[in-house]
Amino acid sequence: MARATVLGRLTWRVATVTAVRDETPGARTIVLDLPGWPGHLAGQHLDVRLTAPDGYSTQRSYSIASAPDGDRVELTVEVLPDGEVSPYLARVLAPGDPLEVRGPIGGWFVWRPETPEPVQLVAGGSGVVPLMAMIRARAAAGADAPFRLLYSTREPGTALYQAELERLAADGSGLEVTRAYTRRAPEGWGRPPARVDADLLARAVWPPEREPAVFVCGPTGFVETVADLLVSAGHDPGLIRTERFGPSGGRS
Ligand SMILES: Cc1cc2nc3c(=O)[nH]c(=O)nc-3n(C[C@H](O)[C@H](O)[C@H](O)COP(=O)(O)OP(=O)(O)OC[C@H]3O[C@@H](n4cnc5c(N)ncnc54)[C@H](O)[C@@H]3O)c2cc1C
Repeated sequence: MARATVLGRLTWRVATVTAVRDETPGARTIVLDLPGWPGHLAGQHLDVRLTAPDGYSTQRSYSIASAPDGDRVELTVEVLPDGEVSPYLARVLAPGDPLEVRGPIGGWFVWRPETPEPVQLVAGGSGVVPLMAMIRARAAAGADAPFRLLYSTREPGTALYQAELERLAADGSGLEVTRAYTRRAPEGWGRPPARVDADLLARAVWPPEREPAVFVCGPTGFVETVADLLVSAGHDPGLIRTERFGPSGGRS
């Protein structure tokens, strides 16, 4: 049984794109129908494989953005202008198109709604995607573990899921969102544009004494810096889970 489950996850299957939704000028959500999908945990990802007519094939990983919802799975892809795969996924792929995927993948960077501990999410750029799946899974399950999200983006216009996060943070269910900007902040914003630093973490993150489960996701440099700062601030390294999306690519 367990072997069949693992093999199922490692087998490529063909999903159908049922809808696409622009989140920002540079990022798009792709809604997939995956008949026979075994379900997923918030935080897991998929592999996507593209194959050219000449047989050349390449694959990339994408976090699942949606809470578990039957055969429906959402991905959010941010375009890297010189990238091989992301411009195709976020600019070309259209409803009705097939897409080869396998998964769900990953058993460590996951959050389960039945866990009561406070949760601290720290996202850099598109690293918010698997953390959004956790926030959505919490809302869908009516779970009451207190959640905090610290979300760093280059500027307000590149922040994903803006309206949904505002709505969920305002509904009194225990989600707090702190935003930070590295290149351009909104007019009158209290903190000048800067990377996440120890001061911001001290203000926005649950204190170590609360023993939060911490999930950090984003470009490699962002994740390593934040994890180091959290450990220096007294957080138990065993409670910090990280997911690296790739090169830091400058300031995120
Ligand atoms: C577990 C996992 C989950 C991921 N989830 C998501 C997701 O939900 N949404 C999403 O948009 N991306 C996600 N990624 C990143 C994704 O897999 C690709 O790396 C990304 O889309 C770039 O692919 P590409 O083919 O367009 O670029 P490539 O052709 O691979 O690279 C183009 C250039 O960009 C650089 N580069 C590659 N990846 C990154 C990056 N992440 N940041 C900055 N520079 C980079 C390369 O070094 C190269 O210079 C995830 C990665 C991992 C490992």
